[in-house]
Amino acid sequence: MKLLLNIIGIITISLAATSCTQKSSSTPDGEPMTHLLLATAWYQQSAEMRACYYQAYNLAKVTLKENKQNYKGPKPTAVVLDIDETVLDNSPFESKLMADRQNYSDSAWKVWTAREDARALPGAADFIGYARELGVEVFFISNRAEEERDHTFKNLAEAGMAVDSAHLLLYDASKKTSCKDERRDAVSANYEIILFVGDNLGDYTSLFDRRDSSLALQLADSLRDDFGRKFIVLPNPMYGEWENAIYEHKYSLPMSEKNQMMLELLDK
Ligand SMILES: [Mg+2]
Repeated sequence: MKLLLNIIGIITISLAATSCTQKSSSTPDGEPMTHLLLATAWYQQSAEMRACYYQAYNLAKVTLKENKQNYKGPKPTAVVLDIDETVLDNSPFESKLMADRQNYSDSAWKVWTAREDARALPGAADFIGYARELGVEVFFISNRAEEERDHTFKNLAEAGMAVDSAHLLLYDASKKTSCKDERRDAVSANYEIILFVGDNLGDYTSLFDRRDSSLALQLADSLRDDFGRKFIVLPNPMYGEWENAIYEHKYSLPMSEKNQMMLELLDK
């Protein structure tokens, strides 16, 4: 309770300070990402988060088995998973940013992934083992960069989710898009993808990439029957396309402006 009150206190102070002079979000001693604090505390230290992941992966097992039984086509079957906040937990990276009063940067991210320290998320390794026992090929499609491939291999193996090169499809900077369609199509050429798992709806379909001011809320409603059947979604309150859309994709806005945009958007 004391921790929660402290967190609420920090957030209240941050919101009250939004009219002060702003610093660039990339300034190392800039305003801390206080909006991230409660999200990261929940993600990393709540039993509810663990229960959500177990729940999702339990459902994923049931669905995978059912979808495999129902598929009568000629191709071998596959499941496609995202990596970050789907099978690997990068919340210590978020905590460190806040402790250091820094905001996200690609260079800080690469220092973190090079440590190969991300732990497996609850239920993830067990699900992957189950899929393989069932005879379903396991592919990872991630927007980690190709230059992070070796570290990602080692981290996945260390976390009990070893994979070979052909099953790890990363972000190719030369293609200039983080959209996963092309990589999904590459898997689909030889396999029937019977299930997707991810923390971002763009891990399922590119319809959720680059969301406009509608935030894709109605789009999610329109695809309601797919969730739990074709796509298993995991909770990530720390970051994601949902957050970028709230900021209208203006990543470099000062943090206090982002906080203000978020506050203004909320139903009251
Ligand atoms: Mg992810």
